[in-house]
Amino acid sequence: MNRVNLLDFDQAGLVAFFASLGEKPFRARQVLHWLHQYGADDFEAMTDLAKSLRAKLPQVAEIRPPVLGHEQASSDGTRKWLLEVGPNNRVETVFIPETDRGTLCVSTQVGCALDCAFCSTGKQGFNRNLTVAEIVGQLWWANRALAHQATAGTLAQPSPPAPQPLAGEGRFKPLRGEDGGHIISNVVLMGMGEPLLNFDNTVAAVSLMLDDHAYGLSRRRVTISTSGIVPAMDRLRERMPVALAVSLHAPTDALRDRLVPINRKYPLKELMAACRRYVQDGPRDFITFEYIMLDGVNDQPEHAEQLLELTRHVPCKFNLIPFNPFPMAGFRRSPADAVRRFASRLMAEGKIATTRKTRGDDIDAACGQLAGQVEDKSRRVIRRMEMLQ
Ligand code: SAH
Ligand code: SF4
Repeated sequence: MNRVNLLDFDQAGLVAFFASLGEKPFRARQVLHWLHQYGADDFEAMTDLAKSLRAKLPQVAEIRPPVLGHEQASSDGTRKWLLEVGPNNRVETVFIPETDRGTLCVSTQVGCALDCAFCSTGKQGFNRNLTVAEIVGQLWWANRALAHQATAGTLAQPSPPAPQPLAGEGRFKPLRGEDGGHIISNVVLMGMGEPLLNFDNTVAAVSLMLDDHAYGLSRRRVTISTSGIVPAMDRLRERMPVALAVSLHAPTDALRDRLVPINRKYPLKELMAACRRYVQDGPRDFITFEYIMLDGVNDQPEHAEQLLELTRHVPCKFNLIPFNPFPMAGFRRSPADAVRRFASRLMAEGKIATTRKTRGDDIDAACGQLAGQVEDKSRRVIRRMEMLQ
């Protein structure tokens, strides 16, 4: 018999699963606590389940997180986990601690089908959607590792490739920081892939992130980044409204068609209308527009004017992202002056426009352990996360 992976279920799914075993819904909530708040990975640990149920569960179910391939920690506390998600397929999760929050960046697909001109994930093509267990498993691993670190009272240290389960006392305590608060306070879905093209799995994983019986994060602290899949933005608004970042990158259809090819299907007029609809129901009263600064391509004064005009009726903030080059990209990063000028123009109209902090560069030096492409992706992920804050 095929055993189901309990990490693939959100609360509704787990309730249905336990119902199929003739068990009451509260069992689902007990198991959610064990899985996601205690980081348990075996049924024997679940001491408040009846012994008979604990004996039955391993026959029909398993707890199978994605396999941890590699873990890294930099001196400033940034941590990265590389997860093996099939032969030659890996995705990366990055944690950035700051004084007032800890942000985890997660991936939703292996590769991406949308082929944006400036994106190395897009250049790899699409491989497959991540499962719910693989998406939420990124949070599961990070939470365990960070709780372990807090329990041990040490600064981040590089760990062995396959860390042992939490040892001794800390093992089945809720995974919280030393002050009892969440170590991971924010999640951004802006690693590899287009979350809204893996809609159902993304929504189920996000539902676990928000569920008080699992990770209990606020809707305002979970951000989905999308290249602008208009119908899915509307479905998200109805099903699971969380903070939304839209990868705009260009103020006209002619330019965006070239940089973000999905624009040919969902052009700017439709995208802006979807953004306005989203703000009405979303947990935040603005959309974050991400805008990669590409030298001579979209960073000129006229582009700033066009951008202001385009977004005049959309409550929004801007994150200007210095382009992170990769081999054969065919673009250059905008000079710092051009970025400053662009941001000033937006701010002169009363818009909030942030640009990347310099911290990412320090991290680059620390993350040279991961090979080629992966290293390149991790730098980009870290920069993008800083932009969104
Ligand atoms: N597919 C979604 C989420 C993942 S990409 C999206 O496109 O929004 C997350 C962000 O990283 C996007 O804003 C994307 O445009 C940006 N990005 C992609 N390639 C980049 C690069 N080379 N340098 C800087 N940012 C990049
Ligand atoms: Fe990259 Fe996002 Fe474009 Fe996909 S949609 S190619 S992940 S920027």
